[in-house]
Parts: sequence; C-alpha cells; structure tokens
Amino acid sequence: MNRPITAPRAAYDRYFDTAWDRAWFSNGGPLVSEFEKRLSAYLEVEHAVVVCNATLGLSLLIQALELTGEVILPSYTFISSANVLKAAGVKPVHCDIRSADMNIDPEACAALITPRTSAVVATHIWGAPCDTSALQAICDDAGIALVYDAAHAFGVRHQGRPIGGFGRAEVFSLHATKVLQAFEGGVVTTDDGALADRLRLLRNFGFSGVDRVEIAGVNAKMSESHAAMGLANLDMIGETLAANRRRHELYADELAGIAGLRFHQPAPGASSNHHYAVAEIDADIFGLDRDGVVDLLFAENVLARRYFYPGGHRSIPHLPESGAPAALPVTEMVCERVLVLPAGAAIALEDVRAICGLIRSIAAHAPELAARLSDTGASRRRSARPDQVAPPGFSKPRTGSKP
Ligand SMILES: *Cc1c(COP(=O)(O)O)cnc(C)c1O
Repeated sequence: MNRPITAPRAAYDRYFDTAWDRAWFSNGGPLVSEFEKRLSAYLEVEHAVVVCNATLGLSLLIQALELTGEVILPSYTFISSANVLKAAGVKPVHCDIRSADMNIDPEACAALITPRTSAVVATHIWGAPCDTSALQAICDDAGIALVYDAAHAFGVRHQGRPIGGFGRAEVFSLHATKVLQAFEGGVVTTDDGALADRLRLLRNFGFSGVDRVEIAGVNAKMSESHAAMGLANLDMIGETLAANRRRHELYADELAGIAGLRFHQPAPGASSNHHYAVAEIDADIFGLDRDGVVDLLFAENVLARRYFYPGGHRSIPHLPESGAPAALPVTEMVCERVLVLPAGAAIALEDVRAICGLIRSIAAHAPELAARLSDTGASRRRSARPDQVAPPGFSKPRTGSKP
C-alpha cells in the first residue's frame, strides 16, 4: 500500500488561502476551474471534468453514455467499476486478462460481445496502458463505446501522448494513495465537448440554470480544498514521477534473481508512472505461496497486499445467481500470485532496501517458513486487521485499503 505523496504544507496553503479569503468553497470555484485547465493541458485533452472521486466519475459516465444491457470489463481490477455498473442496472461481464501485463485480453473481450453489449470499460492496470488499438478496433466494429478506468495511470504516456485521450473518455482517481492525489477526487477526460457538458450537468444535480434542472444528476462536485491539494501536487508531479522511478528501479535491482519471484517492469520502451511495485510469486519455485509471503511481511510491519483478490467475477455482489462464476484462468492465477509492495515517492529508499532484504531472507528460508506457517495455521493474517498490528515505521497504515 502506498503512503500519500504530498506537497509541502505551504504549497497547499498558498492555494487554499485564496479560497479562504473568498469564502468560496464549492460549486465550481476558481480553484476547481484552474485545476481543470491545468489537468487538460497536462493530459493534452480538450476537457477535464473534476469530480469528488473516480467511482462517481465512472457512474456519471455510465449515465452520460446511457449504457444499458451488458458492459465488458476486466475481472482483474478494483471493484468500483463492476459495482457502479450493477448499481446502474447494467450487467458487468467479467473478461479475462493477459498474463504479460494483467490488462484485459482483447481477444477474450471480442468473444464476449453480444447484441446486448453497450460498452467496454477497460483498466490500465498498474498504470500499464491497455492494448488501446486492438480494443478500439473491436469496439468500433461492434459499434459500442470504449472507456477507460485510468485510476492507476496518471502521468503515463502511450503512442506519443498521455493516457487521458483514449477511447470516448478516461477516468482518473485522485484518491490519497494515487500518484496525483487531492485527498479524494477524480477527473473524467474526453475530447467530446457534448459529453463533457453532460458530465458537468450530471455532477451538479443536473442544474443548467439557477432553477432549471435538465437531467437527474447527483452531487459529484469537487470542493476548493480538494482542488488546492490537487494543484499543489500537480505542481510537483515531475519530481514525484522521478522519485517513483528511483524506487521502482531499486526494487527491480534488489529483487533481481530471486527464483520464483517476478518483479513487474514496464514493457520495453513503455512509459510508466512507476507508482506500483508488483511482484508475482510462483509458489512451486519460490518454496512458499504468496499468502505466506504476505503473512511474513505483515508480521514485519510491511503492508504488502494481495490484489485484486479474488477477482471481480468471484466477489460476493457479482457471483451469478446460479451456477459457478465464469472460468477466468489467467485472472485466477494472477490473483493467487500477485504481491503488491509499498511504493511511490513517499517511501524512503532505505525502506525499499529493507523490504527487499526481508523478501530475500524469506526466499532463502522458504521451505522452513512454509512448514512453520502451516503448523501455526494460515488464517492469522486474514483475521488480523492492520490497525491491530500497526507498527511505528514505514508501513503504518494511513489510508484506506485501495492500491
Ligand atoms: C482507486 C481506484 C478506483 C477508485 O477510485 P476512487 O477515486 O477511490 O473512487 C477505481 N479503479 C481503480 C483501478 C483504482 O485503483
């Protein structure tokens, strides 16, 4: 889990003091307008519509695009997209992923399209761009919308331009643990002016005038204080990305050559924001399964996590009413193997070294540790809550449970 990356307090105050002096805290204030302008410039996209979080951003997009019937999404992603689809009365259809980059598999996606399919919502998982060309061709052929959950992908470039301009729209999260954070927040980016206008109506109850309500919108506005945080952090995004990269490279160096552990690297030549440190443990070779490694790291106060276990298709709200969940073999393998380590600019290089040292010593003693863990029962970690075992030091949980 990542610790929030935060501009100096004075940088936040410089922005927020202006809102304080104006006593203008919400309803499309000057800081939100400035933040939107800066985001659309940085992301090289016509419209950036900021909202109170990415989940509501996705929800507005579902409403704005009038999605119905079925929507295909990867099974291996954060649960919010499946949940908001279901809440909108749309059936989430979980699709398998590719093992190389854990992104939605375009061929599997094409095979799931039916006459009821209205869209594909694809996630750039861990900030690795999806195969946007293949997905766009598939969606164009089928005459359906393609949108992206870009919650992980702020600051990533793809095919010569930033993530943010692909598909009909992309949705970024500005949650405290994300690479650009605004305490909580989200931004929907699109080059489609009519869609952006609709999103702006929807985020503000549907108001198009003082007492004219155009559509049944909700309250998904961002406050001025959130925009101040976002602006202060956007001012230092270059430094953040550079610091992220140093930590990622250190992980890659320190974890190289451990049998049964694969540390995820961006594809050759691909851009990354290096915000996530993701490894896969092959238990047969490593000598201990991923859950055992998570348990042991947890005992050393390292908040390593498994993600996105057990996969959207196996999560309780999305289990089929009868029969077994779809067979998604790659998702299931990845869900058993992935280990996400603390990363990002707010963690010290020394802590990265210490975590890697722990992993090396776990690897060196894996068979004995596996035997000891099976003696003590494997349910310890699952029953322990982070706040009960939280330590002083680098792994103290500070925010929610999101990656
Ligand atoms: C964090 C996250 C979200 C949700 O973002 P919020 O801003 O917290 O609503 C959605 N999808 C992915 C992949 C995420 O990591």
